[in-house]
Amino acid sequence: MNNHLIFQKIINKEIPSNILYQDKIVTAFEDINPKAPIHILIIPNCFIKTPNDINANNKNIVAHMFYTAVQIAKEKKISKDGYKIVVNCNENGGQEINYLHMHLLGGVKLKTLY
Ligand code: 5GP
Repeated sequence: MNNHLIFQKIINKEIPSNILYQDKIVTAFEDINPKAPIHILIIPNCFIKTPNDINANNKNIVAHMFYTAVQIAKEKKISKDGYKIVVNCNENGGQEINYLHMHLLGGVKLKTLY
């Protein structure tokens, strides 16, 4: 499915979204269907389809995604109480959008999946 184009259009501001942070490497924006009071997606500006596509050449981008998520958690003042960072992969992992993304979830006590 080509639904990764949705996230590319968000990066390029071709479709509206609430972008909280953007630099040369990543874009962070509010999830359209939030599962928690704070639900932000962090994505790389260059296309990476799934976690399986992380490699030696792009692994630093993933570190920057993680760093960005933590910075936003601090800005949103959820870092002390805590939060979840979730990355889904393919069908069994529940990945619906075929563009690597990190979910930052917080503002409430979240259930543990395991
Ligand atoms: P996944 O299930 O692939 O890990 O998560 C995809 C997420 O993208 C979902 O939480 C969904 O609500 C969000 N999403 C899907 N389409 C859009 C959109 O057009 N705009 C925004 N902001 N979020 C979207």
